[in-house]
Amino acid sequence: MNTLSPLTELKGIGEKTEKLFAKVGVTNVGELLSYYPRTYETYGEIQKPDAVTDGMTAALYGQFQGPLAVKRVKNMQIVSGVFESDAQKIRITWYNMPYLRSTVRAGVPYVLWGKAAKKNRQLVLEQPAVFSFEEYHRMRQHLKPVYPLTEGLSAKTIEKAVRQALESLPFFKETLPPAIRSKYHLAEYHFALEQIHFPENREQMLLARRRLVFDEFYLFILALRQLKQVNERNPQRFQIQKIPLTDQIIANLSFSLTGAQKKVWQEIERDMTGDYLMSRLIQGDVGSGKTILAFLALFLAAGNGWQGCLMVPTEVLAVQHMEAIQKQICEQKLPFYAELLTGSMTAKQKREACGRIVSGESQIIIGTHAVFQEKIQYKNLALVITDEQHRFGVRQRESLSEKGDMPHVMVMSATPIPRTLAVILYGDLDISVVNELPANRLPVKNCVVDTSYRPKAYRFIEKQVKMGHQAYIICPMVEESEQIEAEDVISYTEKLRSTLPQDITVSYLHGKMKPAKKNEIMEAFVKNEIQVLVSTTVIEVGVNVPNASVMMIENAERFGLAQLHQLRGRVGRGDAQSYCILCYGKDGEKTKKRLEILNKSNDGFYIANEDLRLRGPGDLFGIRQSGELAFRIGDVFQDAAILQEANDAANDTLQDPSYPEGKDYAILRQNLEKYMYKDLCNLNL
Ligand code: ADP
Ligand code: MG
Repeated sequence: MNTLSPLTELKGIGEKTEKLFAKVGVTNVGELLSYYPRTYETYGEIQKPDAVTDGMTAALYGQFQGPLAVKRVKNMQIVSGVFESDAQKIRITWYNMPYLRSTVRAGVPYVLWGKAAKKNRQLVLEQPAVFSFEEYHRMRQHLKPVYPLTEGLSAKTIEKAVRQALESLPFFKETLPPAIRSKYHLAEYHFALEQIHFPENREQMLLARRRLVFDEFYLFILALRQLKQVNERNPQRFQIQKIPLTDQIIANLSFSLTGAQKKVWQEIERDMTGDYLMSRLIQGDVGSGKTILAFLALFLAAGNGWQGCLMVPTEVLAVQHMEAIQKQICEQKLPFYAELLTGSMTAKQKREACGRIVSGESQIIIGTHAVFQEKIQYKNLALVITDEQHRFGVRQRESLSEKGDMPHVMVMSATPIPRTLAVILYGDLDISVVNELPANRLPVKNCVVDTSYRPKAYRFIEKQVKMGHQAYIICPMVEESEQIEAEDVISYTEKLRSTLPQDITVSYLHGKMKPAKKNEIMEAFVKNEIQVLVSTTVIEVGVNVPNASVMMIENAERFGLAQLHQLRGRVGRGDAQSYCILCYGKDGEKTKKRLEILNKSNDGFYIANEDLRLRGPGDLFGIRQSGELAFRIGDVFQDAAILQEANDAANDTLQDPSYPEGKDYAILRQNLEKYMYKDLCNLNL
């Protein structure tokens, strides 16, 4: 067995499980080993039953009163018993674990460890692990890996597979050049792999993690530098000139550009009309007005006879940008044709759109990743803009350059990365910052409340609607779930419909809906045919309905602060005073403190930093959960110091005359190639 062996070489993995692994991007043994735990569970202190709350993972000490019973229900075997702990009786059940009946005895003290639930006010433990007191004591030193799962792929399967892989593979060769490893005091690779999956204790895990985070950043930076070299050799051939139309468009806007917008526009215009291809990141907090800059760039390309395209992560956003640009084209009588291209269009619509794109009839193309599909041929694409999250991957660059010349590239992002880090992370791009909000904005008023505030909140929303405004209510879940206690969009909408007056239209939106349905709902919201929109975080990115003045977020404790800031950015986009109601469910005090940061500040950079400070080094994976910065293990905020070090190391390496040919770099070279081909393309930065 080696790292390239298929997973089926591991015992207990058949084709079915292999397919499940493929769904999470694991196709061979090497990839399995870099499928790192998302976090770790620790075995906590033993609890008294009274202190155990619903949903908590708890350890209870006590004994079974009688032998366990086994019952057959359909094709399941259910083992159950009554466990007495601190004079309380707790019902315990296991599914399909009949052997427990002969191993677990009545009258013997055990520690049971598992997820607690309150059913009809009765405490139950589901599928708990059973330990002797001494065993449990030993386990408390350990951290239990928690892997990201997918439906059908259990934690147990992953853990078993990883254990086997680690046992069957020979010692892993060191991947970093020795000089780098010793200079930056990094753990050995083999040690790191073992300890990241099955840490002996917290200290070892932190050492392992530091090493693997370093590796990831180091490879990333080297890969970026390589890209930059490629890009720098690319002079542009588009011969784009400034056009008088630009000034006219700016003058006719319903607002005047902020100083920051003007400055950034100059940078974009200078790039596009210069000698070399533009590769520029436009960074700006939510609501800073990045969209208009994209439109101006598209008009500049179109005005010079070239095509430009704007790619966004969701259809909802694509449709919205499309409408906004058409409004500009109409109002200002611009001689351009804009085309929408999304996955939910019918085959006929797509065919017609493709026809207009290949003929050059459409100069401006707005869409989801559909704009990059192979079938689509551009007549003369000169500019590609990506908005929110979608970094332009290497592979996409290649596929586009096959469609013609390499285009100008512009990336727009609201992720608040401090400049020092942005310079490293976007080393292949020049950076512009829109560091000013439009002047007419009233800061959003915030409050942090618990669920008892709801009736008041609804009355407030009602009042806002009567004044002609609209509201969003965010719930973390799509449907009701037995496992997780959190508000869900569907039942919430029903409740709200019966609470609010009949003449207020309440509707819902979530990611599992068909794209066409989503668009329909969003459009109705834009037209104010829906006044209250209950939604999951699908509206998080980019959506712009300036008439909405209330953002209420249920179970706010479940979201990262940066994400909450993005959500809040959906209101306060017009002239009216806007409000954000952060409503938390459980764990009041701790949550409240965190949410107060949002209450105090409206500045994305400040919020991200405070979030980090509050979490402290104990909370390893917090920010990453927001799914915003998708490194495999590193977290740009949390691991900012490692990112700096990896950057220094990459500089050392690039200055070493023996790089890349020297023998110290042999393995690194291979890894870098793999990295450039695979990981780099999948990164959303
Ligand atoms: P983001 O940077 O989050 O993408 P948008 O481009 O969507 O922000 O802009 C948010 C809102 O602000 C839009 O309604 C837009 O029309 C408006 N806007 C943009 N620039 C200005 C400005 N200079 N003055 C007033 N409103 C502006
Ligand atoms: Mg935007």
